[in-house]
Amino acid sequence: MRLGVIGWPIKHSLSPRMHGAALRALGIDGTYEALAAPPGELAARLRELAAQGYRGLNVTIPHKQAVMPLLDEIAPTARAIGAVNTIVNEDGRLTGHNTDAAGFMRGLSEAGCDVRGQCVLVLGAGGAARAVVYALASAGAHVTIWNRTPERAIALADEFGAEVTTQLPPAMRCGQFMLIVNTTPVGMTPNTAETPLPLAGRGYGARFVYDLVYNPRETALLKESRQVGAQPIGGLAMLVYQGAESLRLWTGRNAPVDVMTQALDS
Ligand code: NAP
Repeated sequence: MRLGVIGWPIKHSLSPRMHGAALRALGIDGTYEALAAPPGELAARLRELAAQGYRGLNVTIPHKQAVMPLLDEIAPTARAIGAVNTIVNEDGRLTGHNTDAAGFMRGLSEAGCDVRGQCVLVLGAGGAARAVVYALASAGAHVTIWNRTPERAIALADEFGAEVTTQLPPAMRCGQFMLIVNTTPVGMTPNTAETPLPLAGRGYGARFVYDLVYNPRETALLKESRQVGAQPIGGLAMLVYQGAESLRLWTGRNAPVDVMTQALDS
């Protein structure tokens, strides 16, 4: 079974290591490669890979939206989010899926966080935030979005029935945010001292803080979340679970998430 991830640049992707370990653990004779596709060459590259019999592809930056018109079918969740991160090839017919939302939610449920009816603050309004806000709104959360560029927060909030706060610290219409999610790259290596929202002395009533950044494993935001008594959830959970869901779509098998997590930690 030939699998891979298509993006640009792609050299530093962790997915080949994670999926390679999963294929070995499942005893599947297959490969998962990093496949470079500069923006102008996406359509040709996709045709070439489908013709070569690739069963499945992950799609990453900058192609998650651009790939959509090149596919035969788009699954409803991917259509609602407006981005595809997984392609399944059934005898040359390509269907686009989005497993980021499911991966994000599985990270939450594994941590024991139920957002139904709860107020949630989402920092950022880029590509990852689309999947996060869709997932949270679908799960019945009351979402408030803050973004550095407020216009993008307003557009995203309009689409998914969320609210916007234009200032940080955020307006506390909710009284508290039981969950705070960082979807910005703030705090990522090498800027590990930075945090998108200082929690010390406030905490906003958060019981969970979920940082999509996975490098470092524990960001400054997550360290602070412990100090205010909230449970930290690192970005590795979403990375592994979105990959596990992609693998299930390609193989029909439950993915070995422990093996995949270990592969990323080694
Ligand atoms: P993106 O589409 O480029 O969006 C980036 C977002 O972060 C935008 O809202 C942007 O605000 C904001 N931002 C960027 N730099 C900022 C700064 N210095 N201060 C405040 N806000 C800033 O990127 P993305 O694809 O959503 O990815 C965002 C992060 O999520 C990355 O770190 C990525 O690695 C991570 N991620 C993790 C997973 C996972 O599985 N764990 C999955 C997807 C993404 P503006 O609108 O103002 O530019």
